[in-house]
Amino acid sequence: MIEVKNIEVLIKSIEILRGVSLTLAPGEMIGLVGRNGAGKTTTIRALMGLAPLKDGEILVDGRSIDHLKPHQRAALGIGYLPEDRRLVPLLTVEENILVPSWAMPQIDHKKRLAFAYDLLPEIATMRDRKALQLSGGQQKLVALARAIMAGTKVLLLDEPFEGVAPALSQRVSEVIGALRGEKLAVLIAQSEVNHAAKMLDRSYSIERGTSI
Ligand code: ATP
Repeated sequence: MIEVKNIEVLIKSIEILRGVSLTLAPGEMIGLVGRNGAGKTTTIRALMGLAPLKDGEILVDGRSIDHLKPHQRAALGIGYLPEDRRLVPLLTVEENILVPSWAMPQIDHKKRLAFAYDLLPEIATMRDRKALQLSGGQQKLVALARAIMAGTKVLLLDEPFEGVAPALSQRVSEVIGALRGEKLAVLIAQSEVNHAAKMLDRSYSIERGTSI
């Protein structure tokens, strides 16, 4: 269970988040919806430890994770799909997917990789290609596989449907939908809910750095 309690985040001394609260329980698919610039990415970055809190707290299973670095949060089973994918261009598809597992000695890497390939067989066929050889949409799928690799408990997906062709966004939806039943908590940030509307249990709205 993740609890975000009234967090505030400053970027370059400007208050970007000014009171965001949400909860995310195992098995839930939750939306975080707001227009561009509302603070969705910053909320997810704060959850990953990439944007320091000025106030408020983030708890996982009742314990504060504020002192944990991003790789330590990955080790807790939190997977992250950044909006801009952030693959390492010169690494292969498989190496990119395995990156978060370097911080996770407790998981069976082979088994988890097989699970990711099972969900995304089209990625398995590209495993030896360098990330820079892929299209933007293919890179999104690889970044999703990488998030699934780490996300044994929680998946934080920042605009998973953005910048991909309609057929591919349908695939992204199917893959996310197939994770239901895995007892995963999934947070999907979107500026519009159209793609994920049916699969969401509920949504939070975010406006000017405040959740509603
Ligand atoms: P988008 O989908 O456009 O990324 P968002 O809801 O995810 O929107 P954020 O990326 O969290 O919004 O940004 C929230 C606000 O913080 C915006 O006004 C943005 O301009 C500002 N912001 C974010 N990062 C920085 C930064 N590094 N420097 C300055 N301002 C920033």
